[in-house]
Amino acid sequence: MPEEIYFDNNATTRVAPEVFEAMRPYLTELYGNPSSIHRFGSQVGRKIAEARAQVAALIGAADPVEVIFTSCGTEGDNAAIRGMIETQPGKRHIVTTQVEHPAVIGLCQHLEQKGYRVTWLGVDQDGMLDLDELRHALTDDTALVSIMAANNETGVLFPIDKIAAIVKARGIRLHVDAVQAAGRLPLDMRALPVDLLTISAHKFHGPKGVGALYVRRGITFPPFIIGGHQERNRRAGTENVAGIVGMGQAAEIALARVAEDSERIGKLRNRLEESLLRSCPECRVNGQQRNRLPNTSNLSFRYLEGESILVLLDQSGICASTGSACTAGSSEPSHVLRAMGVAAEWIQGTVRFSLGRFNTEKEVDVVNQTLPAIVQRLQGLSALGKLPSQEQPPASRGRAAKSIGARG
Ligand code: PLP
Repeated sequence: MPEEIYFDNNATTRVAPEVFEAMRPYLTELYGNPSSIHRFGSQVGRKIAEARAQVAALIGAADPVEVIFTSCGTEGDNAAIRGMIETQPGKRHIVTTQVEHPAVIGLCQHLEQKGYRVTWLGVDQDGMLDLDELRHALTDDTALVSIMAANNETGVLFPIDKIAAIVKARGIRLHVDAVQAAGRLPLDMRALPVDLLTISAHKFHGPKGVGALYVRRGITFPPFIIGGHQERNRRAGTENVAGIVGMGQAAEIALARVAEDSERIGKLRNRLEESLLRSCPECRVNGQQRNRLPNTSNLSFRYLEGESILVLLDQSGICASTGSACTAGSSEPSHVLRAMGVAAEWIQGTVRFSLGRFNTEKEVDVVNQTLPAIVQRLQGLSALGKLPSQEQPPASRGRAAKSIGARG
């Protein structure tokens, strides 16, 4: 098998060597319980405090106590949304978007079944929200607005500053899923009036199984795992010490490198995209090109099957994705591209390349040489390309949740 070229960093990233080294002692000799009174345990407690400060610095939190460690981004999203409806029992309305990750869509669909009203904001063909639609969706009954910072499939960035201004002017709680944005773009909770923010370590070269939920000081937030006193009584259970230490180290590195990494990775992504658009007929980029994560390229090849492209890329040692890892194996078309009104003949042939810190120009050039031949081969085999176009009408704004596939 050839050495792999990993362009699936929105699914997960490689643990940075420094992160692994920071974690190692906490899986071997420093195994104390951070809640123990003895020095062997309390030194571990101090290390968790250090990691909390490192994570707080990554997101620009004013105070490390605003950071609650979780097991993943999904847990953070769930805890944030459930917490806000629990503390405002009189309010029965939630506002979110049609293009969120299943961690948010799935929970909001569940809450809809329980009797909550959910407004699903639509997006335009570039994947952008209409801020007037958001403004008009807010009511006195709205408990929470939950909106992502960066889309995991297309990389499209939502204007969180403008969204926050609109939502906070109405005194409504705002949760931001920043799982794809953290470590890739600067985040500053001191400047952004966001109440709750979710991040996940494995998206920025930290380990899997650990994330964090930021809860602004002063926001009433109930415990979401009940038991011991850990995480200031908000999330009970003995801490994932090595994971937390790794997340802290990954956060410190990401903060130090964010400008340099995003510039370099953005150049690589543009090199990839420009070359593929030149050399592959019937190829398009999905999502607004100006406001996008620098690492993400969501490409559609008309009339082709994304899965077939992935299989042939895989045979050449290249890892990419059709959308998000959570939907691998699903034949449902992307809910994000459907919400953008992308026609079926393009959606099926979608491949997402997501780059990361460890990718090189040489790897980009290998993909640029390999993919056009794969596309040419599949276009030669494709019967669909010879059929008349089967345009699908653009997805209507604010459609019912039932029509949204639970995939991300
Ligand atoms: N939110 C977004 C935008 C994501 O991309 C993901 C994972 O891909 C999640 C939430 C869930 O994060 P985790 O995999 O840590 O549960």
